[in-house]
Amino acid sequence: MDLNFSEDELRFQTEVREFLAEQLPAHIVEAAARNSSVFVEKELALQWQAILVAKGWAVPQWPQEHGGTDWSPAQKYIFSKECYLAGAPMLIPLGLLMLAPVIMAFGTQAQKDHYLPKILNGEHYWCQGYSEPGAGSDLASLQLKAEADGDDYIVNGSKIWTTHAHLSDHIFCLVRTDNSGKPQQGISFLLIDMDTPGVSVEPILTMAGDHEVNQVFFDNVRVPQANRIGEENRGWSYAKYLLEFERGGGFSAPRIHHELDRLRQLVADQRTDNPGFDPAGDTDRRLARLDIDLKALEITELRILSSVAGGGNPGPESSILKLTTTRLEQEINELSVDVIGYRGLAMEPIADGSPYRADFESSIVPRYLNNRAASIFGGSQEVQRNIVAKMVLGL
Ligand SMILES: Cc1cc2nc3c(=O)[nH]c(=O)nc-3n(C[C@H](O)[C@H](O)[C@H](O)COP(=O)(O)OP(=O)(O)OC[C@H]3O[C@@H](n4cnc5c(N)ncnc54)[C@H](O)[C@@H]3O)c2cc1C
Repeated sequence: MDLNFSEDELRFQTEVREFLAEQLPAHIVEAAARNSSVFVEKELALQWQAILVAKGWAVPQWPQEHGGTDWSPAQKYIFSKECYLAGAPMLIPLGLLMLAPVIMAFGTQAQKDHYLPKILNGEHYWCQGYSEPGAGSDLASLQLKAEADGDDYIVNGSKIWTTHAHLSDHIFCLVRTDNSGKPQQGISFLLIDMDTPGVSVEPILTMAGDHEVNQVFFDNVRVPQANRIGEENRGWSYAKYLLEFERGGGFSAPRIHHELDRLRQLVADQRTDNPGFDPAGDTDRRLARLDIDLKALEITELRILSSVAGGGNPGPESSILKLTTTRLEQEINELSVDVIGYRGLAMEPIADGSPYRADFESSIVPRYLNNRAASIFGGSQEVQRNIVAKMVLGL
């Protein structure tokens, strides 16, 4: 992969910068800078999504026939990097980048025609119903039961840790349709409208004080069998395909670049008044280490995602991306907390005019707390290491 951009790619970079300067609203940039949650506020993410849809740039990852772009991997990378440099938030990936590839690969034509446009224009807002109280890392032991009843299934049980279920109108679920064979063989992939009678959502508050995750209950919920993706009892392979996109289906290096830049600025600000500022005694070494690891991630990401450019899936290598991305972001979070020191104790922004509580600073400790969960969601770090050992290294 040649990292020196060509003349055409540099022209494209200018075009993207001009678009962002004109079209990215300041209030969305401010909200993204303040944000400490895994996703920026739903309404703002959807506003930004609508602007990108109007330009035809919302889903460069999608094939062109469904509304994607014809960009090369280098162009996709440039676009992603410029968006973060300009302070744009990440679009919420649950429908756009996780469910959509599954529908494209395994859905019927009717499902593609119905769901993909609604995911793209934000009419459908999706959440992910994989984990259950007794099924996380050991996902195949899931027990949300779907029993056939005429043309429908009757669904009973519950899902847990469901991000944004309280904001979603639809949920994609792994359900148990057969208990007779190996656990992986009796799972189906079902799309459920959250408005269906019998679906209810209970909030779970996290240690950062956020309401992001929920428990979802299903009490005799009637779901048309036509909402099943692919074949009955083959849902496990569709579920794993989706997880590859969840763990490494987009560029994370540009986002981490932006986070590292903000951290460097934070250190530089401290050094304006106190040139020797070095709170933990190894600030520069940690910054250099982060920079080196980020460059390695960038190359790995470009290599893996180049192979996806032709419409393929990221493969088990996506676990390498998830492991590295999570570690780097958490190390940036930790060093940021060290840098702001005692000022991080105030969890709420201090009134305007304070020299210490710029909006970004006020998000550092909540962000640190919130992002501890990154080593768990999407499959824990230990589970990713097992996948790398088995599927990538062949151990
Ligand atoms: C903030 C947040 C958001 C989430 N959002 C969603 C969502 O939207 N939808 C959804 O379906 N799920 C979601 N999850 C659930 C997440 O996928 C699970 O929490 C995760 O897969 C771990 O499962 P568990 O919590 O049951 O932990 P367990 O599986 O019980 O694991 C406990 C510990 O044991 C370790 N462990 C387990 N098995 C092994 C093994 N074989 N080898 C080595 N170590 C092992 C784990 O690494 C972990 O440290 C979310 C979780 C969090 C924290």
